[in-house]
Amino acid sequence: MTRVLVVEDDPQLVRALVINLQARHYAVDAAPDGATALRLAAARQPDVVMLDLGLPDMDGVDVIRGLRGWTRVPILVLSARRASEEKVAALDAGADDYVTKPFGMDELLARLRAAVRRTEDAPLTSGTPLIQTAGFTIDLRARKVHRDGHDVRLTPTEWHLLEILVTSPGRLITQKHLLQEVWGASQSNKTNYLRVYMAQLRRKLEADPAHPRYLITEPGMGYRFEG
Ligand code: CA
Repeated sequence: MTRVLVVEDDPQLVRALVINLQARHYAVDAAPDGATALRLAAARQPDVVMLDLGLPDMDGVDVIRGLRGWTRVPILVLSARRASEEKVAALDAGADDYVTKPFGMDELLARLRAAVRRTEDAPLTSGTPLIQTAGFTIDLRARKVHRDGHDVRLTPTEWHLLEILVTSPGRLITQKHLLQEVWGASQSNKTNYLRVYMAQLRRKLEADPAHPRYLITEPGMGYRFEG
């Protein structure tokens, strides 16, 4: 049975959703606010989350960020907000799809089925989307790094560099390869760029940046990620 977590503070809408979902044999939990949602998501391990963005205690986007710290559960956002920035913020934070209120129940259920199906079909052979170390977790699909209970903010350049290293764990990646991939062929002798950006990544990810455990320098050669 597919378990749905409905996060919505409008009791009438919650009632309508619960009745419709249960009639279609979904198991339903409902949370009226963000804090309850985060607690229930951990306790009940839903297969999909339906999330209203306008909650009484926190912004729905922060609920998405909280969930994405540890789970890839599909998140279908429900919102009265039509502004495209809101949609972009929700999708950037890791939501899978977006339905604007008012919506028809048939459309919502179709989107829900699609969101669940996508995760069931997601190929695991194309690499592990989650890279976990004792110090931090990297979600390659959501492009997020989580450390000590919070998201680590990376610049696009830092992310690009990190992604190349962590997707080849244990392998030496040469300076030239990294420079070409991240900065382009014309910059392939700018090893000082690499030193600067690697130092930044270590400051953000390593417990002791001066003695890195994960982002290892191979002097004169390149870098290696030890997972
Ligand atoms: Ca609301």
